[in-house]
Amino acid sequence: MNTNHELRTTNHEIMIGILALQGAFAEHQKILEVLGQRTLLVKKPSQLKVIEGLVFCGGESTTIALLLKKYDFLKPLEDFVKNHPVLATCAGLIVLAKEVKGGKTCLPVLDVSVKRNAFGRQYDSFEENLDIVLLGSKPYPATFIRAPWIEKAGNDVDVLARYQKNIVAVKQGNIIGTSFHPELTKDTRFHQYFISLVRVKDKETKSNKSFNQQLITNNQ
Ligand code: GLN
Repeated sequence: MNTNHELRTTNHEIMIGILALQGAFAEHQKILEVLGQRTLLVKKPSQLKVIEGLVFCGGESTTIALLLKKYDFLKPLEDFVKNHPVLATCAGLIVLAKEVKGGKTCLPVLDVSVKRNAFGRQYDSFEENLDIVLLGSKPYPATFIRAPWIEKAGNDVDVLARYQKNIVAVKQGNIIGTSFHPELTKDTRFHQYFISLVRVKDKETKSNKSFNQQLITNNQ
């Protein structure tokens, strides 16, 4: 894992977008910028062209879904998530889920079945230390707010974390989904991990492009 210092010095040209139609986008922006990451609040589909990764923030999934349709985001986002890392938190996770219990699907790219507001009224909001191997041995303080849990995850989906046996964080290729809100804790490890994914993917894409360019030049 990179230190903040390394992120600051090597990350200047990569831009991470945060979908900013509704919800906790400002908190994600703040934590990414504390880590030295350039960010862009994404309010129009055309902005997807200038970012290398995207955060789907928490909020109200039904409202976000309506706005995504209204502003013609669905097809451009479907294309974007095929080739770029995305971090989807809480309502964002619901937006990307292939099956939604207690709601409708919106952009069904993540092979999970989620249950909205799954923890019930009694546990509306809570913080819990989770063991997340991917982030190292120190327990991770996860904040849950009217959170969904993941009832089922497909074969291509890695389970990153559970709370009381329920799946609460997953990774499928470039897509990370969490029931909780990494932007609401002081622990920056989730965002650091996401930034490193975006950087690796960007390098890969750039070297593929230059390889293809070389092939074209050689064949001319
Ligand atoms: N309960 C909300 C929904 O279903 C999600 C809550 C959140 O993002 N904090 O959309």
